[in-house]
Amino acid sequence: MKLPDNFNEASKHSFCVLPWVHRFINLGGEVQLCCTAEEHPHSYIRDDSGKLFNAKDGLSDAQIGASRHMCEIRQLMLQGEWPAACQRCEVTEQTGGISRRSSENRHFKAHIPWILENTDQHGNTPAQIRSRDYRLGNRCNLRCRMCHPRASSLLLDEWNQISRPRLRINPAKARSLNQRAWLQDQQLWHDFSANVHALEHLHFAGGEPLVMPKVLKAMEICVATGAAQQIELTFNTNLTKIPARHRELWPHFKVVNLVCSIDAHGTLNDYIRFPSNWNTIARNLDTIEREHEALNLGCAHISATVQIYNIFHLCALVEYSHQQFSFIRPMPSLIHLALPDYFNIQFLPNDLKQLAAKQLQGLVTRLRATGVHEGFEQIEAIITYMQSANHSPYLMSEFRRITTTFDRLRSESLTRLVPELAPLMSTKNSTGLRWQVAVATSQGKWLAGKLAGKLKNQLAH
Ligand code: SF4
Repeated sequence: MKLPDNFNEASKHSFCVLPWVHRFINLGGEVQLCCTAEEHPHSYIRDDSGKLFNAKDGLSDAQIGASRHMCEIRQLMLQGEWPAACQRCEVTEQTGGISRRSSENRHFKAHIPWILENTDQHGNTPAQIRSRDYRLGNRCNLRCRMCHPRASSLLLDEWNQISRPRLRINPAKARSLNQRAWLQDQQLWHDFSANVHALEHLHFAGGEPLVMPKVLKAMEICVATGAAQQIELTFNTNLTKIPARHRELWPHFKVVNLVCSIDAHGTLNDYIRFPSNWNTIARNLDTIEREHEALNLGCAHISATVQIYNIFHLCALVEYSHQQFSFIRPMPSLIHLALPDYFNIQFLPNDLKQLAAKQLQGLVTRLRATGVHEGFEQIEAIITYMQSANHSPYLMSEFRRITTTFDRLRSESLTRLVPELAPLMSTKNSTGLRWQVAVATSQGKWLAGKLAGKLKNQLAH
């Protein structure tokens, strides 16, 4: 098979190396296409009978890779069509952002000739997993507001207080979230060890991977087998800790890269990523700047989840990064939050969207004036994304309800930190028949949208 020369141009085509070289296992042992697609129902890989693959079933990479579902995804990509699961990359490219697809294609470009030579017209190909992304449990030391107990066990009590009854988690479900059977699966660890020499990239996220014992187990296998020296190790970390054992193991790997999940500068980050402490994070950022060679770091950057809480403080974070860092990439990655939708910037009232867009445009002007000449497309993409859906009075009433509950439980105040959001938190205009009708109408539209999405996904299967 052959790809056109411009196969990696934004939105022109849809080829991505990951369905050939990557294996992503999510927190519950679910085998999914990649973490960028994880919120999409089609990203869950199924066997030919339609049953979801799970790591606890002890299946090999070859068995998963040969499934009809994986073959169809590869076949679509080679035909220049976007698989449904890859919507996030498609939208990112359409709004002018840099998609994961394009960065992975660059990263693994040496394997593309092999992929084309060894894939038939039906998408069949031998298994050749070069990259693994494992979510080895929901242990985390934080309770971020936009997170779920699935990814942080500490969030459970608060989750059950902020959630609508149908979304609450009962004790039996909580036990299953906290004690994942697949993590004990002998076959998984056997396969990991047996194939470790083919690995080029190993990624861990959370929970918080730097506090997870199973992450250390995987790293120790890499070091003990001598495979570590050819493996690039990457972490999504909240950077609240750089544990001593990690400092010892990192130099054994080819290189270590850090994606630091930080959503704001200062106390707003502690508010969103509760109960982190900005002074500790700033100290750890400074350690990375000063000790990156000894720690064997190849690169590090801040990744901010752009949501309603931080949209008015992105400028402060971006400017802090540009002033403070030389080793750490000065331009943070700005990743828009899609879910939970009540924190999604697309549903803000129009006047707040305009205010946020004006602030971000001002940021671009200031950065240009100081000689910065790259990274602006991410800021533009956030503005475009924000403006590409309509205000939802229903979701904004949910935002107010959930924020008020979190604030009460944590003795915090959003409006003290982000005064721009005071109109959204005010109940002054949130009474009366007109308001109730607006919320009910928008709730109806939101429900209809959800149902239509579900139906579309079922029909596509
Ligand atoms: S195109 Fe994007 S969503 Fe699809 S597999 Fe590649 S990185 Fe994942």
